[in-house]
Amino acid sequence: LDAPLYADMAGDLNVSFEFFPPKTEKMEEQLWSAIGTLAPLAPKFVSVTYGAGGSTRERTHNTVARIAKETPLPAAAHLTCVAASKAEIGEVADAYWEAGVRHIVALRGDPPQAGCKFEPHPQGYKGAAELVEGLVKRHPFEISVAAYPETHPDASSAQSDIDNLKRKLDAGATRAITQFFFEPETFFRFRDTVAAAGIDAEIIPGIMPVSNFAAVQRMSAMCNTAVPEWMGKLFEGLDDLPAARQLVSATLAAELCRKLYAGGVRDFHFYTLNRAELSYAICHLLGVRAA
Ligand code: FAD
Repeated sequence: LDAPLYADMAGDLNVSFEFFPPKTEKMEEQLWSAIGTLAPLAPKFVSVTYGAGGSTRERTHNTVARIAKETPLPAAAHLTCVAASKAEIGEVADAYWEAGVRHIVALRGDPPQAGCKFEPHPQGYKGAAELVEGLVKRHPFEISVAAYPETHPDASSAQSDIDNLKRKLDAGATRAITQFFFEPETFFRFRDTVAAAGIDAEIIPGIMPVSNFAAVQRMSAMCNTAVPEWMGKLFEGLDDLPAARQLVSATLAAELCRKLYAGGVRDFHFYTLNRAELSYAICHLLGVRAA
């Protein structure tokens, strides 16, 4: 691929940022400082995750509602089906609609205990496709869903996972955001397969800047993301050098984005982990500047 030089990148792209709801006052300060730093980059939207098992229902709501009220940023709320009846999910959706939130990232979610199998609530939705259907019936939300370039761990095959993605889009979602991955070819192969399945919705790559390699290895193992050997080598010897690690991390994520850009990608979703610097630096390299 003929990737452009950073200096030639015009910033003709859309970015979005994902945060998680803060647990403590200190984390809350960190989140708002991150939002303050990233807001001038005029993201297409910012989203806030929903804790496993719906454990952050209130905190996710409060964070998204505050973004919607106090900032000009389009705010999106993640919402999962775990441990909730359809009626309860309906109430959560109503509260978002009333708070002026118009975008939901609709997900099945994972069981609260890692490694357990997902069991739908007896009066609940069986998966994200049903959730999308329920949400659009309730309010005309804009809906994003999850997609898996390396196939979701519970899927019986790559094809059945793509069929499921198609069901979610056919049910009313307008775009998919991918699980994180580390090789551009992984995304391009997935994009081709998705197109061959007749899906023409936007598929936005989820970019995870790796600041803690060991933690990302653990997460990757749980969600089926391959961690290339070369990446381990690049983080070797940096355990006690956080600043150097950040520089390596920004370089790797920016390189991934630059190659994706060369392959025609113009939308990028960043898993910020509530820290602005890495995502800001990567966006800056890609030519995205404060408005
Ligand atoms: P679904 O689309 O329902 O799919 C789940 C599995 O079931 C897949 O393997 C699918 O292939 C299979 N499947 C579904 N229907 C069928 C069928 N009819 N026949 C056969 N197989 C079927 N988790 C959280 O808890 N909170 C968050 O905020 C959160 N945010 C996320 C954001 C993004 C961008 C991504 C990529 C993931 C996020 N997750 C979050 C993780 C997500 O909840 C898990 O990956 C979960 O295990 C699957 O959710 P899903 O919406 O993709 O599920």
